[in-house]
Amino acid sequence: MRIGHGYDVHRLVPGRPLVLCGVEIPWEMGLLGHSDADVAAHALMDALLGAAGLGDIGKLFPDSDDKYLGVSSMALLEDVAARVAALGYTLCNADITIIAERPKLSKYTEDMRKTLAAHLNVPPDSLNVKATTEEGLGRASSEGIAAHAVALLEGPGPRVRNL
Ligand code: MG
Repeated sequence: MRIGHGYDVHRLVPGRPLVLCGVEIPWEMGLLGHSDADVAAHALMDALLGAAGLGDIGKLFPDSDDKYLGVSSMALLEDVAARVAALGYTLCNADITIIAERPKLSKYTEDMRKTLAAHLNVPPDSLNVKATTEEGLGRASSEGIAAHAVALLEGPGPRVRNL
């Protein structure tokens, strides 16, 4: 078993769609970023890559590369899942916490869970998505949206060394 953690934050700005875990949320602002800025998907990808020892999304999908300009994070998530699976890992479970003062997200979390499960090709009960605020105390959650994720992978056995 291997565990990974991911964290990300993006700034909220007018004139951008708000996409979280692949679900578009109706809201007056969206997240700024090179891709669709799906902060929750980014945290989940970093948790998966961390657990597999594969680095992070900044290394795999650099924002200096125009190939990733405006890209759907669900496409990147599928890429990450394929890399993790190629090493023989399967997902036990992942848990995502989205931190935002606004908008209220609780009514979308079930949709987010199903969307992630479909892109990862795992049962929805291996994922959990929840949303919280920081009671107005956090700059990241007031001027943007932050997300944490943890993921647990089950591997094919001890890694073979010294080959
Ligand atoms: Mg990001």
